[in-house]
Amino acid sequence: MTLGLVVITGASSGFGAACARWFAEDGHPLLLLARRTDRLESLGLPKTMSRPVDVTDRAAVVTAVREAEAEFGPADAIVNSAGVMLTGDPLEQDPVEWDRMIDVNVRGVLNGVHAVLPGMAERGRGTIINISSIAGRKTFGSNAIYCATKAAVHAASEAVREMAAPHGVRVTVIAPGYAATELSSHITDAETRAAYQAAEASLEGGLSADDVARAILYCYRQPQNVCIREIVLADTGQTI
Ligand code: NDP
Repeated sequence: MTLGLVVITGASSGFGAACARWFAEDGHPLLLLARRTDRLESLGLPKTMSRPVDVTDRAAVVTAVREAEAEFGPADAIVNSAGVMLTGDPLEQDPVEWDRMIDVNVRGVLNGVHAVLPGMAERGRGTIINISSIAGRKTFGSNAIYCATKAAVHAASEAVREMAAPHGVRVTVIAPGYAATELSSHITDAETRAAYQAAEASLEGGLSADDVARAILYCYRQPQNVCIREIVLADTGQTI
């Protein structure tokens, strides 16, 4: 059986890189997107096209998906994992950081959806997996705009799911808790970053990227008539 193409954004690190390894292990051809292609190539995965794409660039996302489909056949799944978390107090934070999170976490995810959804609907199958967060289900004032972007991912995913369902396309939201990846290293305020990383450390890092990738694979591996709409997962010790 020929396995379908899986597109993974944010595949150079964290959850995206773990998903790339797991889907490759299952034998899927892959399109991996991120800005750091050296990191994509260093994964050394077979049947893989890597492209240096910024997910905020809609045309570049579409072009890369078309190029991969020409080589490997139509996209059967996309994992929209690219994201940034610039934790900050909204009373003090530079709104440029808000724009960045909105652009990557919301527009970036929608650009991925746009690149694959019409084709999937036409073919009557496909799986869209969007990575949100527990921060998309409840708010944390110290992470206000990040929460807003993840709430948007939840809302858009559920609404797109309703519209895609009659066309046989599944849409799943994954909402993880703390996981020690590179995510928190991009927080610009040193004190805020240290506080966030201390919370992560109190959980010994929380989830691993593989824990999250396994949940994603579990959703994808269900029979096509089963759509797992949402998985919320966190370290057992996480109280928030
Ligand atoms: P990482 O920082 O380890 O990975 C983020 C990935 O996103 C990198 O591959 C990065 O690649 C990519 N990325 C960032 N900006 C862009 C861009 N403009 N264009 C293309 N790619 C981009 O974080 P995680 O793996 O932890 O995060 C993955 C997702 O999971 C994010 O959406 C995050 O919000 C979410 N999440 C993470 C949690 C955690 O605790 N780690 C918890 C809940 C949700 P590059 O820099 O090479 O472009």
